Parts: sequence; structure tokens; C-alpha cells
Amino acid sequence: MIAIVGAGISGLSLAWHLHQKNIPYQIFEASSEVGGYLKTTQMGKNKAYLFEKGANSLLMDDEIFDFIQKSGFENELVYANKVSKSRFIVKDGKPKKLPTSPQGLLFSSFFSPTTKAKIFKELYSKKEELDPKITVGDFLEERFGKQLVDYAVSPFVTGIYAADAYQLLLKYTFPKITEYAEKHGSILKGFIKENGGSRKQSVSFKNGMQSFARHLAKSINVQYNHRVVSLKNSDFIERKNRRWVLEIEHDYRGQITTESLEFDKVFLTTPPSATANFLEPHFEKLALTIKDIHYPTMCLIHSVFKKKDVGFELNGFGALHPKVEGLFSAGTIWSSSVFEGRAPKDEVLFTGFVGGRQWQENAELPKKEILEKHTAELKQIYGIKKAPVIQQFIRWEKSVPQYDEQMLQVERQLKRLKKSDIYICANWFGGVSVSDCIKKGRDLALQFIADSNL
Ligand SMILES: Cc1cc2nc3c(=O)[nH]c(=O)nc-3n(C[C@H](O)[C@H](O)[C@H](O)COP(=O)(O)OP(=O)(O)OC[C@H]3O[C@@H](n4cnc5c(N)ncnc54)[C@H](O)[C@@H]3O)c2cc1C
Repeated sequence: MIAIVGAGISGLSLAWHLHQKNIPYQIFEASSEVGGYLKTTQMGKNKAYLFEKGANSLLMDDEIFDFIQKSGFENELVYANKVSKSRFIVKDGKPKKLPTSPQGLLFSSFFSPTTKAKIFKELYSKKEELDPKITVGDFLEERFGKQLVDYAVSPFVTGIYAADAYQLLLKYTFPKITEYAEKHGSILKGFIKENGGSRKQSVSFKNGMQSFARHLAKSINVQYNHRVVSLKNSDFIERKNRRWVLEIEHDYRGQITTESLEFDKVFLTTPPSATANFLEPHFEKLALTIKDIHYPTMCLIHSVFKKKDVGFELNGFGALHPKVEGLFSAGTIWSSSVFEGRAPKDEVLFTGFVGGRQWQENAELPKKEILEKHTAELKQIYGIKKAPVIQQFIRWEKSVPQYDEQMLQVERQLKRLKKSDIYICANWFGGVSVSDCIKKGRDLALQFIADSNL
């Protein structure tokens, strides 16, 4: 029997794919709901407001569409409005539209002539094998100059990975860029040649991201309020096959009972802290390495204003704040412009981000101070005259795992799990996005089935 620990999107995808092939398993979730970082709140009359407290959207390609369709949730899909293709960066205190194509970078007024000359020169870069330790910031600064990193790369790296571009390793964060540099020389050429026909779309669901997790859970027998507390070896002498014993605490209306269950294989989809605790008695070095994965704090603030009170047309996905602009927040997504049904028609919803690796100290301030500073900044940037109609706040003490130098150690140490019958399938290794987690769950399930000749 297989155990899956955790019912975030990684665990759900894994379980769903095993279920399709009639492979028996048990899945344990510590909390009373599924989804992990997919966390949606709907409120107001007729659920007029939809706040994403974790992941906002999902980048969908053909494989992800196939999964959504096969799971029977295709009719719930909502596509990002066309207008959200425009991305803004706050420059000199105001949102400015960023060119969206490599060609556009050369012809817009956003960048200085020196940066444009560097962009042009990049098209003639020679193929090279990259140092596995090179960071996103160092590599792209060498290719395109500091202005492009400050105003285009760093804000996006903060927006997606809550990270510092000069600490994230290129090979783990943007494997495609590494591939393009090695295959085409110029990464711009790589994008033009290989990405031209790509059909990735930003999507969500009518009732938000967590509704998809709940839908997947319907065909999977998730055991809610079941916290796995330890992983032990069973008695080797008595049994021929290696077996793992999970100690599980079941919380039933505040009454805690503990049980021990034996499994042949264990799939861990849990965050690093829990995973390290499970592994420590058996793989101490690996556990210590996993414990050291960096996880910055990030606060999300949902602010709703009357549209008439906002002095700026929110025709885009949102605006990111380069660190060099000296602002308090890392940026905002203009959620009501991206997807329909996030706020009443005469109101707008901003999802603001405070924190991440470059703004860590801001994320640790008291909630009241964060709300005051963030709101004042929104008012200033967008010429907003009145207070928000509604505001919501969530602090993720550990937001997005950082694919920095620590990952080189993690990758090395994970090899120790070979032949242990323990498998890792989580956002902290091999891809952080929701689509990456779905694909890793699917690939692990299929690989497992192939290896086991089932
Ligand atoms: C603020 C924020 C915004 C994001 N925005 C986006 C976005 O817009 N698009 C995107 O693609 N990605 C986004 N991401 C990243 C993405 O949401 C996550 O990487 C992904 O959802 C992680 O899924 P997971 O299943 O690997 O882990 P998790 O979601 O962490 O799931 C792990 C599960 O394990 C359970 N668990 C933990 N310990 C135990 C235990 N001891 N026993 C049993 N169960 C346990 C937890 O309760 C949880 O349900 C965002 C992340 C954050 C933090």
C-alpha cells in the first residue's frame, strides 16, 4: 500500500493519477481542507468578492488543459482578460507599461539607449555552457545590463518567486534560459524560435483556485485532519519487505487519537520542515539540508476601492515595484482586471504583496503598520482619494521556497532516497508553480507505475 502525505496540489495530482490507474493508496492531510497554498475566500452578498490568499492563477499549456479536462473541470475554467497581457512596472513613482516581446524591448522608450544596445548585442551571443552556480541576476546583467535586471527581471523574480534575482540559481529557476544559452547562444533568439508558437494562458476557475483542489479531492479519498507526525522503520526481521510506519494524529473535533499504519511506499508532498522531521531519523544529512531551504515571509493584502475613486485606468495584469524605486510593497496584481467576478463592476480589487527575500523586514512588521503603509502607497501611486471598501490580510511565514545555492546540496542529498521507497513530490524541488506541481505529480505517478510493472 502507498501513503501520500499532504493534499496540496502536488499530493492531489499524484493521487488523482494513481487513482486513474486503480493503484490503491491512502492520502493524509493535516488540515480540514485541501489545496495547501491554493486558498480562496469568497464573501459579500452573492459572493461578490473573491480573494485568492495564495496562488492567484495557473499558467496553462496543452498538458495542463488535458488534465483539467480529464478531471471534468473544464467548464469551470476562466481565462485571464486580454487586457492582462499588459504588465506594468512602477518607474519614477507611476506605473509604466513594459514591452511584452523581445522585439518590443528594442523599440519602446522604457529602456535607455545603452540597455537597448546591449539587448541588440545579445542577439549575437555565442553558445556557451553555463556555470551551474550562476544566478539569474548575474547572468542577465551580463547579457542585458543592470537597468534591465533592476526594472524587468528583479520585479518579476520577486512577483513569482518572492526572491532576490542575485541569489536564485538560473539552472533551477529558468531551465529554459539555460537551455537557450547552450543551444542558441542568444536567449532572445531562443525565445523567438521556440516560444513563438507556445500557447500558455493564464487561467483560474469560476470559484477560484482552491475550487479545483476541492474538485480533485472528490474522486480521491482524502483523510482530513490526519497529521503525520513521524516516519519509522517497521521490524525488518519479521518482514521480508521493507515497510515504513507512519504515526498519524487524527483530530476529531478537538479529540486527538494516534494510530500507526504500515506502508510499502511513502510519497512526501509536505513542506521542508515537516519533510525534514520525517526523514531525520533515517537520513540525517538530507534532513538537515532540507531544513535549510530558504523561505521568505510574504504578506498578501486584498484592497477593494470604488472604481470612481481610483485615478488610474487599471488596464493590465498589475504593476511590480523595482527595489530601486524604494517603495514599501513588492507590487500589486489588479485582480479585478485580470479575471471577471472578483469584485462588483463598480469596484476594483488590488492584490498587494509585501515581503519576499528583498523586502523581508517589511513583511515582519505588525499587521496594522503593514496595512497603513501599503494603503498609503496604493493611494499615492494610483491617485486614490478614499479609503478601501474592504481590506483582507494574510501573512505566509513561509511563502515560496528559494531555488538558490542551497538547492545544489538538496539535489545531491536527495539521491540518498534512491531505493528507500520514499519519494519526494513537492514545490521545494523541481518547480514551484502550480503547473509544475501538477506535472511532477503526474510524472511521478506514471514513473512509479512503469517501474513497478503494474
Ligand atoms: C503567496 C503565494 C502566491 C503564489 N502564487 C502563485 C501563482 O499565482 N501561480 C502559481 O503557479 N504558483 C503560485 N504560488 C506557488 C504555488 O501556489 C505553490 O508552490 C504550490 O501550490 C505548492 O503546492 P504543494 O502541494 O507542493 O505544497 P503545499 O501547497 O504546501 O501542500 C502541502 C500540503 O501538506 C499538508 N501537510 C503539511 N504537513 C503535513 C503533515 N505533517 N501531515 C499531513 N499533511 C501535511 C499541508 O496542510 C498542505 O495541504 C504561490 C505561492 C504563494 C505562497
